Amino acid sequence: MARDPRYDILFEPVRIGPVVARNRFYQVPHCCGMGHRYPKSMAAMRGMKAEGGWAVVSTEEVELHPSSDISPYLEGRLWDDRDIPYHARMCDAVHAHGSLAAIELAHNGISAVNRYSREVPMGPSDGAAQHPDNVHIRGMSKADIKEVRQWYRAAALRAKKAGFDIVYVYAAHDLTLLQHFLSRRYNGRSDEYGGSLENRVRLFREVIEDTKEAVGDTCAVAVRFAVDELLGEDGITHQGEGHDVIAMLAELPDLWDVNISPWENDSQTARFSEEGFQEPYISFVKKLTTKPVVGVGRYTSPDSMVRAIRQGVLDFIGAARPSIADPFLPKKIEEGRQDDIRECIGCNICVSGDFMMVPIRCTQNPTMGEEWRRGWHPEKVTVTKSRKKVLVVGGGPAGLEAARTLGQRGYEVMLAEAHETFGGRVTRESKLPGLATWARVRDWRLGQIEKLANVSLFPASRMTAADALETGAQHIVVATGSKWRRDGVGATVRRPVEGLSTGLTLTPDDILDITPKLPTLPDGPIVIFDDDPYCMGGLMAEVLAKAGHKVILLTPAAEVSPWTHNTLEHSRIMTRLIELNVDIRPGRVLTRRTVDRIDSDCVYTGRNASIEAEALLLVTSRAPVNALAAELESLRDRWAGAGLEAVTVIGDALAPATIAAAVYAGHRLGREIDADPERDRFWFEREGIEA
Ligand code: ADP
Ligand code: SF4
Repeated sequence: MARDPRYDILFEPVRIGPVVARNRFYQVPHCCGMGHRYPKSMAAMRGMKAEGGWAVVSTEEVELHPSSDISPYLEGRLWDDRDIPYHARMCDAVHAHGSLAAIELAHNGISAVNRYSREVPMGPSDGAAQHPDNVHIRGMSKADIKEVRQWYRAAALRAKKAGFDIVYVYAAHDLTLLQHFLSRRYNGRSDEYGGSLENRVRLFREVIEDTKEAVGDTCAVAVRFAVDELLGEDGITHQGEGHDVIAMLAELPDLWDVNISPWENDSQTARFSEEGFQEPYISFVKKLTTKPVVGVGRYTSPDSMVRAIRQGVLDFIGAARPSIADPFLPKKIEEGRQDDIRECIGCNICVSGDFMMVPIRCTQNPTMGEEWRRGWHPEKVTVTKSRKKVLVVGGGPAGLEAARTLGQRGYEVMLAEAHETFGGRVTRESKLPGLATWARVRDWRLGQIEKLANVSLFPASRMTAADALETGAQHIVVATGSKWRRDGVGATVRRPVEGLSTGLTLTPDDILDITPKLPTLPDGPIVIFDDDPYCMGGLMAEVLAKAGHKVILLTPAAEVSPWTHNTLEHSRIMTRLIELNVDIRPGRVLTRRTVDRIDSDCVYTGRNASIEAEALLLVTSRAPVNALAAELESLRDRWAGAGLEAVTVIGDALAPATIAAAVYAGHRLGREIDADPERDRFWFEREGIEA
């Protein structure tokens, strides 16, 4: 297909200092939970982005010295020459597809408490470490500053040797020494590196100059700078010092990569932000510099990209998440296949991998992080010679992805869904406040399936085991999902709670089935018992509070939705619930209910308290819906007659988990249904051992 001429502007080459990017698609630096621990996985993943058409592909942040060690988090390292080959591997993978490789060098300043290297942490001034660590930071002497400049220089030279085309000077995310020097919060110095903005910017300027001098003949020098910290007068603002720093250094770097800080602000989820949400903060930058500007904002629509460029906000469309969800996004636009773009849903499950210190995963793109380990390509699968008929039961994320992958491989697939509408939990959850984009998990898959003549869809088809056997399928995939438990059992309460049937006891399923209209609920308070670490408890509280109910949220945890720290959403969830006057009572475990009372114990003292309320909403855990599999198992003697060879249970029907896990399960089933070379590949990356 031919490219839509409206998008031609996205494919113009752009000069960045001594190098030229072949188009305007720019994968900005992003964490991936691989770093120095899994360099082969990292190189393969970055190479895939280049193959998909991103003209610039960057590393995650790369620690430039052992005193910048943020262990146990897995970022890149360029501590000495022995790290060069790790990075050369990535440069080769990126260059193989004609893209530019960029490295984000970082000294992490007061964010680096050096748990592995045991160096004494340092920053502009003495003070407590930034994170809840039991250490203090030593203020740097002039000699230290000189030494740090040398380290930056040495690292830039190593980066050049590894083959990078763009070398970053990084002052963003509240994570780097250069930003700490810039900040009035952290910099209490009285010498020429403290006090006035001119003084606080000095080290930043010097490092940019040093880097240019060291490698600027062949490498572009990019600056990543946070123009606003959303802290008002306490921090950098885009109308104040953020603006002034750009004005002071306007022509010094070869490229400005601008964003808002810290990471919670830069990578906001769709629940809290729209596509292009950073534009109000960064749009001034291009007015102050002639150098190209890149910025992010979860751009997945080529129309929004073109608009941002035409309006003079950006020269490059920066992306972390859209490039994770679809490494082939640029190629698809280039080939006039924009309908095939697998759009990021803005859930930040990708971020959770980094916090959990394991390779990245993505809700939309099950191959993310598996490029090297399993040899999965996001666009290609092995086409089968099998004529096998496969019945997939359940059209949620797992069933849809299984049907799509099997269809792409050439199997004859039937996908049966009990409801009129496909999508399972994403269809229901996308009705919750801020989660509309989650429906993209369904819509992309249905769109792809539509193009596959060998996949037939059967909506409104609740399957019994007898129905399933009648289809004549040789393989039945059970992807029938899960239901929220009604007995109070979850991670904390391991036995059914007493008295639940004495009054109105709901689960999120009751709310999800009827939103946007809620059932008639009693006038008094609604008690939520939230024992789910992820986001559903807070979402239920939000829905009920917005509908005018008084909500009391009990949770055994110390805070609401603790797992959402991993998706950078926690503080925004707390803010929203507090603003909605939700009465949050942490450290409490549900013990009993009667008609009009809900009892709970303090998890520390065991002291009981009782709340007068008629309605209880349990957000505890989910139980698999797998009766169909059990029924099929009980009919095993009829399998041969019906031509059935195998039944596989996947996704939430096997063990409820994230949407990402369900999509992954569906994808894996599709790849591995029959023994083939893909099935046996699972390479663990072992430090120092070649695979
Ligand atoms: P997952 O996340 O594992 O994909 P979901 O709960 O999102 O799970 O989706 C499961 C889907 O399976 C739901 O849409 C549900 O309606 C459907 N389903 C459950 N039982 C049957 C059945 N017996 N026949 C057809 N569809 C079913
Ligand atoms: Fe987007 Fe979610 Fe994938 Fe991250 S995990 S890239 S936010 S879809």
